[in-house]
Amino acid sequence: MDTTVFQRFQTSLIAKRHNLIEWLGQTPPTKKQIQLGIANEQAVQAHLQVVDQALEKISNQTLGICEVCHKYVDTDLLEMDYTTSVCLDHYSEQERRQLEAELELSAVVQRALLPQQMPEIPGLNLAAFSRPANIIGGDYFDFLQFRDGAYGLIIADAMGHGISASMLMSSFQTALRTLVPEKESPVEVLERINHIILHNINYVTFVTAFLCRFDPSTRVLTFSNAGQNPPLLYRNRERTVRWLKPTGPALGIIESYYLKAESVTLSDGDILLFYTDGITEAINPQKEPFGQDRLAALVQQNSSLSAQNLVRVVRQAVEDFSGGRPLEDDITLIAGRLEINPVS
Ligand SMILES: [Zn+2]
Repeated sequence: MDTTVFQRFQTSLIAKRHNLIEWLGQTPPTKKQIQLGIANEQAVQAHLQVVDQALEKISNQTLGICEVCHKYVDTDLLEMDYTTSVCLDHYSEQERRQLEAELELSAVVQRALLPQQMPEIPGLNLAAFSRPANIIGGDYFDFLQFRDGAYGLIIADAMGHGISASMLMSSFQTALRTLVPEKESPVEVLERINHIILHNINYVTFVTAFLCRFDPSTRVLTFSNAGQNPPLLYRNRERTVRWLKPTGPALGIIESYYLKAESVTLSDGDILLFYTDGITEAINPQKEPFGQDRLAALVQQNSSLSAQNLVRVVRQAVEDFSGGRPLEDDITLIAGRLEINPVS
C-alpha cells in the first residue's frame, strides 16, 4: 500500500478520534441522552475502539490486508470501509454485486446537489425560516419524496464545525436525494446512511437527523429520529404538546446501529414544528436558555395562526428573549399546520 494512502487514513482517523473523545468528554448529559437515542455511551466507546484498532494497524502497516490472500484490498474499498479485511474477489457473485453498488453510492454521495424547492403538500400549510435546503455550518433541512409519492422532510445537524461538518452535510444531502426516492421508510434510509458513513474514511464526524414521511391521503406521519432535538407536535383536539423524541442514536457514532420507526395520525389543526438547537439554546441576558417549555407554551398560545405567522411569532419571541439580538443565520425553523378544511 502507498504510504500517502496510509497517511491520509491516519489523518482522518485521528480527526475522527478527536471528535469522538471531545463528544464523550464535553457533551452535557441531557444532550448526550438525546443524541444517543436508545443506545448508551458504551456503544460510542466500542466505535472508538474500532478507530483505535485501525490506527494501530496503520502504524504497523497492516490495515487493509486481506485475510484470505494476504494482499492489500483495493483502496476505494478500504476508503468506503476502513475495517474491510477481504478483497472483492473472495465474495460470492451476489455479495460482490452488492458491494459494487455500495461503492458506486459511496462515490455518488461525495458530490453535492442544488437546493430543493419547498413543496405544495395537499392539506398541509407549510412555512420555513431559512432558505430551502440550507447548508451553512452544520444545519440542514430538505424536502424529498418517497418512492410511493409520500412527502419527506429531513432536518439534520452535523457535529463539529468547518470543512469536515459541511462536507459531511453535503454528502448526507446527496445520499438522501439518492435513497429516499428508492425507499418508503425513513428508518430504512437512515440505517443505510449510517452504514455508509460509519466506517468511511472521509467522514470524521457524525450527524443527528430527523426524517419523516407524510401521506396526505391518510394524514399518517411516520418518523425516525436519530439523535436530533425532538420536533414539536401540537394536538389541536387535546390542546397538548408531544415531543417526537429520538428513536435511535446519531448517525456515524456507534457500532451495532439500531433505529426504530414511529407513526402518528394527524388531525385538523395539529401543528408540527421543526427546529435546530439555535432556537431552544438561544440565551437571554441572564444566560438562561429559551428551552422546550417556552416553545411549547408559545405554540399553544398561537395555535390558531397560519404556519407563516407561527414561524414569524416564534422568531420574534426568540429574538426578544435574547435581548433583541437578531437570530444567527443558521437557525432553521419549519412549521406545518393541518388545514381544517383541506382543499378537495
Ligand atoms: Zn484477498
